[in-house]
Amino acid sequence: MDGVTKKQYREALEVAHRHALSWLDSLPDRPIRPDLDVDGVLARLERGLPEDGSEPRDVVEELVAASEPGLMAMGSPRFYGFVIGGAYPAAVAADWLVAAWDQNTGSRQPTPATAAVEEVAGGWLLDLLGLPAESGVGFVTGGTTANLACLVAARDAVLRRAGADPAAGLQQAPSIRFLAGDAVHTSMQLAGRIAGLGLPRTVGADDQGRIDVAGLERALAEGTGPTIVALQAGDVHSGAFDDFAAAVEVSHRAGAWVHVDGAFGLWAAASPRLKHLVAGLADADSWATDAHKTLNVPYDCGVAIVRDEAAMTASLGAHAAYLPAVASVPDPYDRVPELSRRARGVPVWAALRSLGRQGVVRLVDGLADAAAALAAGFQAVPGLEVLNDVPFTQVCLATRDDATTAALGEWLRDEGTVWASSSTWRGRTVVRFAVSNHGTDSEAVRRTIDAVTRGAAALGIGG
Ligand SMILES: *Cc1c(COP(=O)(O)O)cnc(C)c1O
Repeated sequence: MDGVTKKQYREALEVAHRHALSWLDSLPDRPIRPDLDVDGVLARLERGLPEDGSEPRDVVEELVAASEPGLMAMGSPRFYGFVIGGAYPAAVAADWLVAAWDQNTGSRQPTPATAAVEEVAGGWLLDLLGLPAESGVGFVTGGTTANLACLVAARDAVLRRAGADPAAGLQQAPSIRFLAGDAVHTSMQLAGRIAGLGLPRTVGADDQGRIDVAGLERALAEGTGPTIVALQAGDVHSGAFDDFAAAVEVSHRAGAWVHVDGAFGLWAAASPRLKHLVAGLADADSWATDAHKTLNVPYDCGVAIVRDEAAMTASLGAHAAYLPAVASVPDPYDRVPELSRRARGVPVWAALRSLGRQGVVRLVDGLADAAAALAAGFQAVPGLEVLNDVPFTQVCLATRDDATTAALGEWLRDEGTVWASSSTWRGRTVVRFAVSNHGTDSEAVRRTIDAVTRGAAALGIGG
């Protein structure tokens, strides 16, 4: 595009603004499922790259016209798929400014404003989650990269403790034991593979997916040498939390580094009512969480937290003659596995500033309350059962047989009032409800139970 004008920015952003508002306005009432599948959207898009460009405002119009029928209402209070979360108004607006300001928030000196805002957001997160104030905080793309960043810091730290030089690579290094519970999340496995540790060796779990601490203790006793233990705050199916007090204790006694994957569950720590679920959590060595799930900021935003900030920056820091740095103060890029990046911590600041501490408490408690209310409502429908204990935000719904449960999931997604994921848990097909949206209130719960009741009736469940 040659000769970009102020008018073009204004027009393009005005079109985007109008469409963004109409999309957000429609969320509470529109069907949650998209009208078109990927092939349907592909058919509406110009496939070959055009020789000539178009006016920015026309491009935005074309994008919306082609895409909107294929959008899923993931921000709806009745969207329960995966673990998603909506986006708070202040966070969305801050995210727009992040794009307009276009600050490469890698180092403090050239981008003082966004670096400072992120530093404040990081401090607030440590305070809210009850984690050590001296920890290093890195804003990464999501829970998977947060797990990866922490695991790389862990890997290098345990190697250094064993007298090895991480910079020499893993080929010559002593082998590292990597242990986790049986219900370890796929992203933790992926992080282990990328970090060169391979898949974690699993040490057992109970019926809700909590790590078997006796099994962990036995596995730790079987060997020596550099060791990393991955624990979990919030199982994606049951919502269950590992016994951190016991698991951290046996791990530390064996000299292991303890990492906690708390993509959504770490937020229980912010609630006076729920923080008993994470007792002992703060004694771990590193933590991964998402802001784009429970905190309801737009994608993409995860948070990597390492108690020993020097270990974090030793593993993830980068140095080059042209990169401005003050030696005594780590830069944002020293705490993440990337150099250039958007100021994704700014929407975190905005969400936390608009909620305040009490707003976060109400958010987290509200999600757990909604999950409990859904579970109670489902269980009152003849022929339906909830398979998990529901300590937090996850509800696994089942009927008496797998085929009917699968059909109920499909009926619900197709009908459009709610959207929940189908999965299997403990050998049974389930419809899994993950309550992650700030708007999931008692009315959303009522409409959800109503939809499930209608689905059960339509499929002859319990009749
Ligand atoms: C979502 C999730 C992840 C991965 O986070 P992403 O942001 O999707 O990369 C890891 N662990 C758990 C328990 C999760 O729920």
